Amino acid sequence: MVIGADGKHSLVAKTVQAERYSEAPPLAPSYYTYWSGLPTDTFETYVRAEDDRGWGVLATHDDLTCVVMGWPLAQFEANRKDVEGTYMKSFELAPEFAERISGAKREARFQGIRDLPGYFRKPYGPGWALVGDAGYHKHPLTAYGISDAFRTPRQSRPR
Ligand SMILES: Cc1cc2nc3c(=O)[nH]c(=O)nc-3n(C[C@H](O)[C@H](O)[C@H](O)COP(=O)(O)OP(=O)(O)OC[C@H]3O[C@@H](n4cnc5c(N)ncnc54)[C@H](O)[C@@H]3O)c2cc1C
Repeated sequence: MVIGADGKHSLVAKTVQAERYSEAPPLAPSYYTYWSGLPTDTFETYVRAEDDRGWGVLATHDDLTCVVMGWPLAQFEANRKDVEGTYMKSFELAPEFAERISGAKREARFQGIRDLPGYFRKPYGPGWALVGDAGYHKHPLTAYGISDAFRTPRQSRPR
């Protein structure tokens, strides 16, 4: 039995030609970094129709707060020329948050990802199974990737 736990570009899935279904194109590219001096005790979310922006604010380790920003795929090429400027300007859509983050310190470089397709793959066959992102992938906005990895392999939705 071969288990493909090798992520969304799974070699196992390619080799067995696992059928893909319920596919969706990549959605909002996401960028995140970590801040000190920006305390939060909950999972804050901000969604703004203006400029199609959304961001999440979550407490992590060592009193650092992760701020994850997403914008439409159509804006990817234009915004990648100035990720920091675009990221920071987006906060003007929520002035109270802009005020909070203006007093915070960025403690890490920006990390970004665009390759965020949605799909299911048939996750089993004779002698093989796919787990985690190899079998099922969606935008990280849901924050369910790891939990769902524990629930596969199975066909998660009717075909
Ligand atoms: C920006 C972002 C934020 C996220 N936030 C959350 C969150 O808050 N909560 C949550 O639950 N999920 C989150 N996720 C999703 C989560 O990261 C994934 O669902 C999860 O990591 C999938 O685990 P996996 O082991 O299936 O795949 P992966 O983590 O991709 O691991 C696959 C591994 O296989 C290795 N590999 C690939 N090919 C081969 C090969 N041929 N030979 C040997 N090794 C190979 C890779 O190097 C990698 O180490 C987020 C994802 C992103 C991109």
